[in-house]
Amino acid sequence: MGESERVVSHMKGSSLSWQVLLESLPDGTAFLNERGVIHYVNDLLSILTGYSREQLVGQSVTMLVPPRLRDAEFAVRFEKVRDPTTRAIWSNQDSFVLCRDGSERPVDFTLTPITFEGRSWALASIRDNSATRELERAQHVAETRAAEIENIAAAAMAQSEQRFRLAFEDNMAPMVFTSDGGLLFAVNDAFCEIVGRTREELLGFDSKAFTHPDDVGLSEEAYRRIKAGEIDRIRYVKRFQHKDGRTVAAEVSMSPARDEKGETLYFVSSVRDITEERALTEQLSHQALHDPLTGLANRALFDDRLSQAHARVARQGGLGAVMLLDLDDFKSVNDTHGHLVGDQLLVEMSRRFDGVTRASDTLCRFGGDEFLYLAEGLQSADEAEIVAARFLEALVAPFSIAGANIEQHASLGVVVWDKTSKSSTEVVQGADIALYEAKREGKGRHVVYTPDMHEQAVGRFTLVQELHKALAAGELSMHYQPIINLSTSAIVGFESLMRWQHPERGLISPNVFIPIAEESNLILDLGFFALNEAVREASCWKPSDPQAGQPFVTVNLSAHQFHDLGLVPMIESALRLSGLAPERLVLEIKESATLLNVTETMNVMERLMHLGIGFALDDYGTGYSSLSYLALLRPRIIKIDQFFVSPASMSSRTDTLLEAIVTLGNKLNMTTIAEGIETEAQLERLRFLGCELGQGFFFLPAVPANEVAAILVHAPWS
Ligand code: C2E
Ligand code: MG
Ligand code: MG
Repeated sequence: MGESERVVSHMKGSSLSWQVLLESLPDGTAFLNERGVIHYVNDLLSILTGYSREQLVGQSVTMLVPPRLRDAEFAVRFEKVRDPTTRAIWSNQDSFVLCRDGSERPVDFTLTPITFEGRSWALASIRDNSATRELERAQHVAETRAAEIENIAAAAMAQSEQRFRLAFEDNMAPMVFTSDGGLLFAVNDAFCEIVGRTREELLGFDSKAFTHPDDVGLSEEAYRRIKAGEIDRIRYVKRFQHKDGRTVAAEVSMSPARDEKGETLYFVSSVRDITEERALTEQLSHQALHDPLTGLANRALFDDRLSQAHARVARQGGLGAVMLLDLDDFKSVNDTHGHLVGDQLLVEMSRRFDGVTRASDTLCRFGGDEFLYLAEGLQSADEAEIVAARFLEALVAPFSIAGANIEQHASLGVVVWDKTSKSSTEVVQGADIALYEAKREGKGRHVVYTPDMHEQAVGRFTLVQELHKALAAGELSMHYQPIINLSTSAIVGFESLMRWQHPERGLISPNVFIPIAEESNLILDLGFFALNEAVREASCWKPSDPQAGQPFVTVNLSAHQFHDLGLVPMIESALRLSGLAPERLVLEIKESATLLNVTETMNVMERLMHLGIGFALDDYGTGYSSLSYLALLRPRIIKIDQFFVSPASMSSRTDTLLEAIVTLGNKLNMTTIAEGIETEAQLERLRFLGCELGQGFFFLPAVPANEVAAILVHAPWS
């Protein structure tokens, strides 16, 4: 039996299998005799060295020692193991093992003497320590470096150590020293804090371990560029992984320390926690680009997306669409239910809109009650119309907010554009023009822009500009159409109707310019002019027959004026200035104007009626013609729209309606005025039905103010 077999057989007899023990050791281990011959090796040692067991057993351990270390010292040390009195473990942390492939692996080398059967044996264990070695090297470098720095500093100033502490240890800024292999070898408290780890958990570790996985590449690139000499220092943003799982955004400024030869020794990084700053910036940029109420994109973001989309379409072709959505009469929601409810309605509504749009498209709130929508990649213009219809459908169900059931509809202007469209501004303008058409056609609908709408819009724009000047230039005046008692043919009053004598275009109909003025506050100026003029003129009218009452004057009021706080004082002062009795003034309002806000309308009407002023409901029968409103508002006069009187619509059905309205007026004790009487036959019919008053071309069209006096003296039809 050879020596090694004996050892093995001896050990086999022990209660704990020594093989199991040796195999489970964390180190590569060899069992040697006193001459250093290997008798047993564990698996790990084979793996570490690359030799098989067979190649090692029976060989001298020196085969694992690099030739340059096989010196006398090694022999002397090994000698000690032979001495049975040696108990100490000889360990060398600065050793290398020679591997089969000729490479040297840095290891911790430990030799432990064992005695049995009266002979000395040794247990050699080898622990791979490349990582620690790297750190030590770096540490050594840093120490040398720090020492160097200290020396220089010491020469310059006595308190260099304190200065270094101030600059590094006590620095509020997190700082870290890393080896050129990326291992940390010095950190200050602030750095420990930023990553939530102790020095022990950091030193010797690769910073990858607590870098956000997506940013590992960023760090590697930073090291690479500096090492390659591409740049001298780098500042970049990366994310650390805090121990508690948080992500810490940081700005890292890293620069290398190089030796005289320019070799990189290590890296110094200072780190700034920008997590909050980033969150704030994100919040601010979100705020800058979103509507705070609904969270939708705002105009700035929309403009940006639109110009990008516009450029894309111009480059790649395809179709884009922009829609401008405006709520119909939204003001009345605010007036009736208050602004809080109005706001909530907008929020609810944007949620519904979100549900009918694609995430890739942009929905923006850009005015109080206006929304803009941008869609890209459309196949056809029809697709845009389908989306527009979906927007309107989303508003069909009433909104229930704060216990109130609110119906809210909207109008939409749609523009579909392709690569021929000039600019993104032009696109939005087109949507605006189409929206105007949608409103004009009766709201609650969508209209797709066509180029001829543009010309009309330009025409309207010019007209508005000119209308502003017209008032000052004295081109506006009031004409008066007599209102006749149909049974006596006597003049009872006049309707004042505005005329615009345009210097080039001649007489322009109020049907053209009043709706345009109503789109802005210009209507308030026109209304002010009409009322003051009419009241002033009427105060000079003398009745032809002293027995007959003084003729009244009717003035048409726009809805805008009705909601203007200045209306009542303006009327009071006009009456005071002219001296006209309030009973001789009748204000004509259209049903649609009263519908906007019934409570407010009734308040204003009550105050004016209290002064003695009368009201006429204009164009009755063409609007909602709600009986309940009629009973509620109780105007003194109902003006039957000329539609019911004109021969063009003389059917038995309209005739029945005409009869019903006259009867209704009589029953409610209201005066009825028929508009647009043009023929004797119509006059006869109205007389027969019991309509009290009338006006129309059959008698006279509206005449200039200076002709009224003569008509009062001698009416041409009498
Ligand atoms: P309106 O208040 O319903 O006025 C009646 C319109 O019918 C007037 O048109 C009048 O000239 C016209 N008319 C009168 N008799 C006949 C007839 O026998 N046949 C036909 N076909 N038409 C007749 P006008 O003056 O062109 O005014 C149109 C509308 O413009 C008015 O309708 C009114 O809504 C508005 N308007 C006129 N002046 C003013 C004003 O000073 N302020 C406001 N807010 N609106 C005004
Ligand atoms: Mg009228
Ligand atoms: Mg009318």
